[in-house]
Amino acid sequence: MMLNDDKMTTFRNTNIVFGLLVLSLVAWDWAHSVAWWGYGLVVFAYSLVVFYGVYFIQSGFFLKTICQGTPQAGRAIALTFDDGPSPEYTPRVLDILKEHHLQVAFFCIGKKIAGNEALLQRIAREGHVIGNHSFTHHLWFDLFSVKKMAEELQQTDRLIETVTGRRPVLFRPPFGVINPHVRDAVRQSGHRVIGWNVRSYDTMINDKHKLMHRLMRLLRPGAVVLLHDHGKRTLEVLPEFIRAVQEQGYTIEPLDKLINVQPYV
Ligand SMILES: [Zn+2]
Repeated sequence: MMLNDDKMTTFRNTNIVFGLLVLSLVAWDWAHSVAWWGYGLVVFAYSLVVFYGVYFIQSGFFLKTICQGTPQAGRAIALTFDDGPSPEYTPRVLDILKEHHLQVAFFCIGKKIAGNEALLQRIAREGHVIGNHSFTHHLWFDLFSVKKMAEELQQTDRLIETVTGRRPVLFRPPFGVINPHVRDAVRQSGHRVIGWNVRSYDTMINDKHKLMHRLMRLLRPGAVVLLHDHGKRTLEVLPEFIRAVQEQGYTIEPLDKLINVQPYV
């Protein structure tokens, strides 16, 4: 079995290791007695490890995620825009990209597609990849049942297919959170899970220079940059960022090319 096989997850290995640890502790307790905090310490350590797996998409803790370009991609990066389509911001992002002859990926929220079908068609027509970013992006999405999550993924896939004629393969989980339910929903749906390795925080950093500085500091070959097409700050920084990236000898490639994955069924 390959180490990166989906079933051989870090989560599974962690459970085995901690299971053995608890068994040894119980055995030791039987022979010599263990203080209550000995068990507390193990529970605390386990929680820390699982927390890391849930909130850091690059960890690949629950399932294999793609968060960077292949080594063959060389000095290239890809831009990804989440949480659209937005009638206010997405067209302006598209204009900037067109001006620079760039193709990127948009991870769209299903419920935002209604009323914005023409915009979604424009995204597809201009050569950008469209990925699934759930239907509701609900604040409690991560507490939903596997069935409900799987329905959201399907609903958004169907909508994108109806509007653009292509069914997406790429899925980015809302908030980048992966837990056992998200993992099971994705195993059912067959999506490839796409993360990032450069998180811009473009919806939180209000200062244009700070945002630019952060992006340039994190820039590296194979970077998958997480941006959003629903904020003013992103629009302000985007042309300057594109210029600076290219000045440093990087190319901005379409996401599917950078990671070498077919974006549609
Ligand atoms: Zn999002």
